[in-house]
Amino acid sequence: MARIARVVPEVSLDRAFDYTISETLDSRVTLGAKVRVPFGTREIVGYVVEFPGEPSGRKLKPILEVLSSGSFLPPILIELAQWMAQYYCAPLAVALMSVLPQAVRRADAAFKQRLWVEPLTATLPEEAVVALKKAKSQRAAWDFLQQNGPGWLAELTQASGFSLAAWRGLAERNLVSIDSRTQDRDPFLHTPVTESAPHEMNAEQKAALAMVNNEIASKKPRVILLHGVTGSGKTEIYLQAIDHVLALGKSALVLVPEIALTPQTVERFRARFIGQKIGVAVLHSHLSSGERHDQWQSIRSGHARIVIGARSAVFAPLTDLGIIVVDEEHEHSYKQEESPHYQARDVAVMRGHLEKVTVVLGSATPSLESYHHAKEGKYRLAEVLARVEEGRMPTTHILDIRTAAKKGAPPVLVAPRLVEAIQARLDRHEQAIIFLNRRGYASSLQCPSCGHVEMCPNCSVALTFHRRAERLRCHLCDFSSGVPHACPQCGSSPYKYSGSGTEKVEQALIEAFPSARLARMDSDNMRGKDAFAKTLNEFAEGKIDLLVGTQMIAKGLHFPRVTCVGVINADLALQIPDFRASERVFQLLMQVSGRSGRGQVQGEVFVQTRVPFHPSIQFARHHDYTGFAEQELEFRRSLHYPPYERFILITARGRNEEKTQFILEQLTKEMEKLGLPETEITGPAPAPIARIEERYRFQIFLRTRRIMAVTPRLRPLFMDRAWPDDIRITIDVDPADLL
Ligand code: ADP
Ligand code: ZN
Ligand code: ZN
Repeated sequence: MARIARVVPEVSLDRAFDYTISETLDSRVTLGAKVRVPFGTREIVGYVVEFPGEPSGRKLKPILEVLSSGSFLPPILIELAQWMAQYYCAPLAVALMSVLPQAVRRADAAFKQRLWVEPLTATLPEEAVVALKKAKSQRAAWDFLQQNGPGWLAELTQASGFSLAAWRGLAERNLVSIDSRTQDRDPFLHTPVTESAPHEMNAEQKAALAMVNNEIASKKPRVILLHGVTGSGKTEIYLQAIDHVLALGKSALVLVPEIALTPQTVERFRARFIGQKIGVAVLHSHLSSGERHDQWQSIRSGHARIVIGARSAVFAPLTDLGIIVVDEEHEHSYKQEESPHYQARDVAVMRGHLEKVTVVLGSATPSLESYHHAKEGKYRLAEVLARVEEGRMPTTHILDIRTAAKKGAPPVLVAPRLVEAIQARLDRHEQAIIFLNRRGYASSLQCPSCGHVEMCPNCSVALTFHRRAERLRCHLCDFSSGVPHACPQCGSSPYKYSGSGTEKVEQALIEAFPSARLARMDSDNMRGKDAFAKTLNEFAEGKIDLLVGTQMIAKGLHFPRVTCVGVINADLALQIPDFRASERVFQLLMQVSGRSGRGQVQGEVFVQTRVPFHPSIQFARHHDYTGFAEQELEFRRSLHYPPYERFILITARGRNEEKTQFILEQLTKEMEKLGLPETEITGPAPAPIARIEERYRFQIFLRTRRIMAVTPRLRPLFMDRAWPDDIRITIDVDPADLL
């Protein structure tokens, strides 16, 4: 019997259709092949994603043509998409869309074609020399080509001053070829780099590298958790492991958080391998669709052997993979917040498993999930606990901001000791970073008489006061309004601002240090990616003394002259009703303090808090990751939280409150009927943020010990299901955010 192929159309990828395979095409229709198929009255292009035993329809039509030589999509990526569809309860098509970027599917993003001129003979034949005596400009054009080498037609005409006709004339005489070629739009093509040599490693680095290389050589490679403090030379370990992989003729995939994917990072990789002429492809969200297309093709063709990218680069179509690195593996930006809600670090681990390559998860503060796996022996643990070249960890001071308040003084925004410390830096021409995880001026506007707080009319959160714009703004839906002159509830005025944001801190610092050069970085004033790079460059060049900002400045940056880091309010994130709040605060404090003292001078960190004895703050102060992890894991175990049990969060959003709740009640009943093993279902209940953008939000919460037994059984409840038009339902497996 002829084989059947399941094909998803390129245009939408929304559904799959079955086709028969003729005998003549049989050998060429492989998993991932790009094919032309009849579709209604049209013909369309699609991808082969499955070979089902049983056809899904009756009269199947045949595949007309195979458009790719071999598989257009590497079969392993189709397997990965299939796994994602099952694990994250998503339609296969949605999973495939993550794997195959739109820029590669869409024809208009195809390679830019340009005309290329190349001589067809090394020297002019006798008869051509004679003939060209009568065509002087053709002769001169030929000589120009001899001297300058082949090039793009447009550039040659411009540089030589000879007309198009001259070049065409040479082509007609078969002396040169003019044909259309693709021109790579490499976003980093024009930044020159100088080659960098590997560092001589210290003993800890050597041991970690040996462990990685050992797994690279293994037939059943395991995942390695590389726990290394900031500045311990983890990147150096990645670079040397990649070098090893390249020497074996294989390629490497490196994931970094989007925010850390700076030209600096990419340059480090290019500089190391430029001597070997290894192509480095870069994938991130700021690429134009044309750039994305070209990068993808350059990876697929095997030209690029190293890929560095953010979350979605986990699907880079490398075929001869030798290692996957996930840097800053604890970062929350690896979680995709839209369907299929995948966690790129976990997908990387799965990809490593399918491809039988080792995956290195690196972090100064590993996620408790990964640390747990390492402790259980599922992953191997490599530790690099000293900074390179005896760089010391900064000294951390905890500043209790309650003390000022107790004496009856107004609460201080920047504690005197931090002010002093900043002043000392300014005097010594060093730099300081002041960090606050909240933008805007004041977090809310509260009436001192009746306590009324100005809320967003669309969401159940308080509006934030932005001083420069003199407006109240919602950080969830971007609603904004003018500031009322009197309290809408009791009529009294003036209002009082409570809480503080980056703008207010900036203001206070300007007042304290009028002559300092100060810059603020948060998503309000760093909308374009150029603004971000520009400010960081100025800071690196020492044109800025003081940098104030949100988490944007907390991570991955390397500034040797920063010797002081201040954290204005470490408690803010602790108040978020999420079981990961402590973990996040700990990670943040560790990351932030990693910014201090990267150079020769010992750094200092000042943490302002009202809860000085909170474990997140105390363990961070002592740079004690292991201590924190052990205690927090114990806590998670006793409460049946991840990583001991797994969560699935189902959220419904709708304008009609009762209807939204009702739909979830129905769904809860259906789930209860499934009799899921070792699973507890709670809800529906209003989400912690009960309303966003005028939509009510309800949640069902599943907690299970046996996730792999649960998601495939839940999945059918969500597939091909028509929910009421005005209600959106999402399912999030291993949610990163419970709000
Ligand atoms: P991490 O990624 O752990 O933060 P990096 O790999 O960025 O650390 O290393 C920090 C700095 O130390 C970099 O400038 C790097 O070039 C340098 N470095 C790394 N390993 C060594 C070493 N063994 N000897 C000297 N310098 C090193
Ligand atoms: Zn009031
Ligand atoms: Zn809002």
